[in-house]
Amino acid sequence: MGYRDIYFDRNKSNHGWYTCVRCGKKLRKSDVDIDHIIPQSRGGSDNILNLQCMCKTCNRSKQNSMGLDTVKDLGKNIVRNLFRKK
Ligand SMILES: [Zn+2]
Repeated sequence: MGYRDIYFDRNKSNHGWYTCVRCGKKLRKSDVDIDHIIPQSRGGSDNILNLQCMCKTCNRSKQNSMGLDTVKDLGKNIVRNLFRKK
């Protein structure tokens, strides 16, 4: 199972729409980029806690950077997943 499948399996869409975590843009599934919060190039895993929904523009501008945003995204994503019912 690819990481896109892992993400979509755990994150049901809101009537077919997903929201970019950075800019809040509404996206169709085909337009969603699944972002590794900790980039794979830096050892980030395909764990659901490391995956988030981004638009292509935000994901491209993020590239492989690690900084305060990475820490914030990771914190938010862990909270989101902890409080989600299966
Ligand atoms: Zn965005």
